Amino acid sequence: MAFGWIDEQAELRRRAGLVRALRPRAADTPLLDLASNDYLGLARHPEVTEGAARAARTWGGGSTGSRLVTGTTELHAELERELAGFCGFEAALVFSSGYAANLAAVTALAPHGSRIVSDAGNHASLIDGCRLARGTTRVAAHADPDAVRKALDGHRGPAVAVSDTVFSVDGDAAPLTGLAAACREHGAGLVLDDAHGLGVLGDGGRGAPYAAGLAGADDVVVTVTLSKSLGSQGGAVLGPARVIEHLVNTARTFVFDTGLAPAAVGAALTALRLLRREPGRAARAGEAARELHCRLTAAGLEAVRPDAAVVSVRAPSPEQAVRWAADCRAAGLAVGCFRPPSVPDGVSRLRLTARADLSGAEIERAVRVIGETRP
Ligand code: PMP
Repeated sequence: MAFGWIDEQAELRRRAGLVRALRPRAADTPLLDLASNDYLGLARHPEVTEGAARAARTWGGGSTGSRLVTGTTELHAELERELAGFCGFEAALVFSSGYAANLAAVTALAPHGSRIVSDAGNHASLIDGCRLARGTTRVAAHADPDAVRKALDGHRGPAVAVSDTVFSVDGDAAPLTGLAAACREHGAGLVLDDAHGLGVLGDGGRGAPYAAGLAGADDVVVTVTLSKSLGSQGGAVLGPARVIEHLVNTARTFVFDTGLAPAAVGAALTALRLLRREPGRAARAGEAARELHCRLTAAGLEAVRPDAAVVSVRAPSPEQAVRWAADCRAAGLAVGCFRPPSVPDGVSRLRLTARADLSGAEIERAVRVIGETRP
């Protein structure tokens, strides 16, 4: 039977307790949210939703075409200018998602005959970029500039190292200065995915590359998502103007994809301006994460010390992680649950995300629920 093998896979998943299911969120959910990536609490900010509505009224429900045909509005150009300026880069290019931005950056910068060095903890979208690229990928040990150095050794031709700035599973930060040094010794480029750094790290949320003094460097390219701190949807690549021009001409997820919807552009632009006006929001997300971690550790839970807003709590097994997250939910707390195959090391975790607008009482309540429901 066609697709019969799918049922066999489904049975294996069921037996391993790894079935995933969609749970539509109600509009006014009473759950305390430690699961979303809305780090600055901007997704439902009235100015941001009005920015989306205004953009839709002015430009329409969709962008109507690919960026090179009809899908670039003045609003797209404005967001690109302001995003590049904010993060300290010469130019930016907006994509329909952070995923598409990562596929674009890696594939366009790793031609045939090139070497890509990819951190073992990288996000799936960077991994897929490596798989699609014409260059050859070497996976380097997690957060290890020496491993990157060794993987670049002896290669002639274009080379690029790719890494998350803040890893999405454990929330730990990459050693950016060391990575840049390793790349520079070999004349290699560095592609950094700052999905979890933008809006949280760096002066006023300008991101991890900015904090590390790498913003505007001619050998550094940064990708971001508009769907986390900026409370919208979409992604972008930031870098030297000549790299951005190269992407406009060669990146398949730019050329053949419909431009980002105006409402998403309007929401992201409004959120970015709000962040400029209220730079304290960025630091508050990090403070909330550190407080959350402190209280979890005091309650005897094994949590990774956060470098940004993601706090990861170890679970004994995938099944227990799933049950733990479900018990939290039943007690009014939404938490993320990471388990195989989403985690490279096979270790399951609850994944908590702190938000700038979390109160001390909410953090206390969250830790109490997590402690009371622990397996
Ligand atoms: N990179 C990282 C590190 C991420 O966590 C995510 C989102 N989960 C992405 C890229 C993809 O971004 P988007 O959701 O905008 O496609």
